Amino acid sequence: MTKLISTRDASAVRQTYSDVLLQGLAPDGGLYVPQSFPQMTLAALEGLRGASYAVIAATVKKMFTEGSIPDAVIDALSIDAYSEKNFTQERAGVVTPVREVHKNFFIQNLSLGPTASFKDMAMQMLSREMHYQLTQEKKHLAILGATSGDTGSAAEAALKGFDTVSICMLSPKEGMSDFQYAQMGMLSGGNVHNVSIQGRFDDCQDLVKRIKQLPDFAHMGAVNSINFGRICSQIAYYVAGYLQVVQTIGDSIDVSVPSGNFGNVLSAYYAKQMGLPIRNLIVATNENAVLHRLFSSGVYALTPAQVTSSPSMDISKASNYERLVFDILGYDAVKTARYMQTFEKDKTVALADFGMQPNIFAEKGFRSGSSSHAQRLETIRHVHERSGNVIDPHTADGVGVALTYFDATANIPMLCMETALPVKFEHTIRQALGHLPERPERFADLESHVASDAFTTLPPSQDALVAYLRSIAFTQ
Ligand SMILES: *Cc1c(COP(=O)(O)O)cnc(C)c1O
Repeated sequence: MTKLISTRDASAVRQTYSDVLLQGLAPDGGLYVPQSFPQMTLAALEGLRGASYAVIAATVKKMFTEGSIPDAVIDALSIDAYSEKNFTQERAGVVTPVREVHKNFFIQNLSLGPTASFKDMAMQMLSREMHYQLTQEKKHLAILGATSGDTGSAAEAALKGFDTVSICMLSPKEGMSDFQYAQMGMLSGGNVHNVSIQGRFDDCQDLVKRIKQLPDFAHMGAVNSINFGRICSQIAYYVAGYLQVVQTIGDSIDVSVPSGNFGNVLSAYYAKQMGLPIRNLIVATNENAVLHRLFSSGVYALTPAQVTSSPSMDISKASNYERLVFDILGYDAVKTARYMQTFEKDKTVALADFGMQPNIFAEKGFRSGSSSHAQRLETIRHVHERSGNVIDPHTADGVGVALTYFDATANIPMLCMETALPVKFEHTIRQALGHLPERPERFADLESHVASDAFTTLPPSQDALVAYLRSIAFTQ
């Protein structure tokens, strides 16, 4: 049975998947990680060839939930989560189709869910697991989170209507696209509350952290990628993508991942730890290049985030990086806590000060790069000319960086993650291509469905937020 431990707990108290599902950070401020990784053999991978996404996802998930949630429950939740009512499927069972842009250079579409970003992939499953667990425990959970746009709508769409949860998402007044704003606004009401903070995403995230330290709000749940359930669900699409692009099971692939909070690419790293033959993990950033600087220099340094045309990657610190730190420091919780505390205090921390060579990242397979607005536009045009496909600005960051690493003669497939549909960021698409992207039928007129009172606007103040949460009786 796979047990989870906190990255900052030296006594390594072991928890089960269902124990951590309803929690955010561990009580010591750390993040939950598997104590060891279950292994997928090549024979097991071979056995999944041709399987539906629901089956692939359930197979991977059960390696973590076995002994804590019954296998039959995971099977049923997975079938429901990844059904055609949630994910547009051109071929039944193929939820994350790949398309080839250059020979051996692929884009895997993770954005065919209800809110058109890859966040739906994990959220649709996580919401069902949470509802199952809360029903078992006869509990109600209040979830407070921060979003730069996509987590909010994905979480709200997935949790809307479940009587076991209420959810309140803080989003920045600046930076989100009109489409993202409308998607969340439409979901307001019932168990869904939307707060617009007069500030940036980092202000929202800081507020959530501070509120969760108050005794009245300490037990709230989390739906961002600090929740292990999200990271865990994301492993499945790397398996699904791998099976679609290799000729022979056992061949290696490279993956490229548009990155912000480091959740998506961490799932790829976990897939690699489980035995999926991934050679390089390319971490692509936009102008907010904290991660690119980290992977090229070994120094993790905070810089204020700026608003860019790939706004879901506009972050100044990457929460999930702590999970990689723990791994690199040999599962030493004391060192990890010291590393993170150094970063929190000094706003910068070097691996070298912890006895590690900066090339440790490269040894683990990590590569990185960053992309500017102009490069993003150029990549959108390039992919469009080459293949007729329109990709969104975040995906373009990943594709652009991947192209700099791609060796067409090496015969190693490059698999780029498509993290959102272009319709979410149509102004940037128009700038790149001179026309708007196609709008899927289900999003027609989206913006006109938002009520004027869909968002409560607040300053970035803890007191104001506490008063608001009390006014809507938002506690567990
Ligand atoms: C959330 C998001 C990202 C960043 O993913 P992380 O897991 O935070 O690294 C990239 N692109 C899009 C479209 C997103 O919504």
